[in-house]
Amino acid sequence: MDIAVLPLAPEQMKARVADESKLGFGRQFTDRMFLAEWSVDRGWHSARIKPYEPFVLDPAALVFHYSQEIFEGLKAYKWQDNRIALFRPEMNARRFNHSAARLCMPEVPEELFLDGIDRLVSLERDWIPTAPGTSLYIRPTMIAVEPVLGVKPSDHYYFYVIMSPVGAYYAAGFKPVSIMVEDRYVRAVPGGTGDAKTGGNYAASLKAGLEAKKKGYDQVLWLDGRERRYIEEVGAMNMFFAYGTHIVTAPLTGSILSGITRESVLRLALELGCTVEERMIDVEHLLQDMKSGAVTEAFGSGTAAVVTPVGRFCYKDECLTVGNGGVGTITQRLYDTLTGIQTGTIEDRFGW
Ligand code: PMP
Repeated sequence: MDIAVLPLAPEQMKARVADESKLGFGRQFTDRMFLAEWSVDRGWHSARIKPYEPFVLDPAALVFHYSQEIFEGLKAYKWQDNRIALFRPEMNARRFNHSAARLCMPEVPEELFLDGIDRLVSLERDWIPTAPGTSLYIRPTMIAVEPVLGVKPSDHYYFYVIMSPVGAYYAAGFKPVSIMVEDRYVRAVPGGTGDAKTGGNYAASLKAGLEAKKKGYDQVLWLDGRERRYIEEVGAMNMFFAYGTHIVTAPLTGSILSGITRESVLRLALELGCTVEERMIDVEHLLQDMKSGAVTEAFGSGTAAVVTPVGRFCYKDECLTVGNGGVGTITQRLYDTLTGIQTGTIEDRFGW
């Protein structure tokens, strides 16, 4: 499909943050965005790159009422030789369409998803920050825009992409975070939408997150929705536990997000000489293993969070220090290797 490029007026160009160490996460957006539309009668059409600006949407648009919305998150890096690299974008395209199917939305042809992003990123290449730990975060999104107050799949959708120059997701940077196991609220249930990247999952997680913050914890770790016994994932990260060089993570049973960083970490860990296992992790057993010292490291993985060490782990008001509370050796090596591949300083032998 042809992608039109609309002109950008000088007054539509924004000032950049001069100090890249102060970027934060997702607070400012580049000058342009991508937009394509889908309607029942025309399918995908009107793909264009246009100035970044607000939408005018009918207050009855379905997305505002019944949350028919999906999104993705990926990053672009500018390498030292000035090349631009996206990290495994075809995986995001596939997961986007997995989410679309679950939410009864039309699939976006992989070519349109990838071309739209490629064209947008190259037009906005000057927005890609280069300081250590920074990148250009890309947010593909689809919303239901048909104005009707009936619970039904929309007849009209916007697929759009916006981008934000970002630094570290957690304000503290690459430092151990504390995690509280949530044993009252649940994020997802079998048969629900846990493995789709849809806004409702995040809206439903806010209350537990806020209560955890009030108690002084950085993040909530969700348990399974049936028994509240098995470890699932953290707000925007999949979780890993290291028993020496044996690394364990929860299996993809349908209620957690199939993380692209998770899959990458599993492969990198093997490459680094670790053994890996995807299995149900009983929180009580995990706690015993932490107490006995068998669990030596814990970390989360995600596009925004990269590899984030977990230093404190709390369950039912009992708090344990993981390992020595600092950054474990394997966590550090995985972080270094992953960010090295992403930024082009370590050879990518996986074709990512
Ligand atoms: N779980 C959830 C709920 C998330 O929102 C994310 C971030 N996309 C992840 C896990 C990590 O996935 P990925 O590695 O693809 O970013």
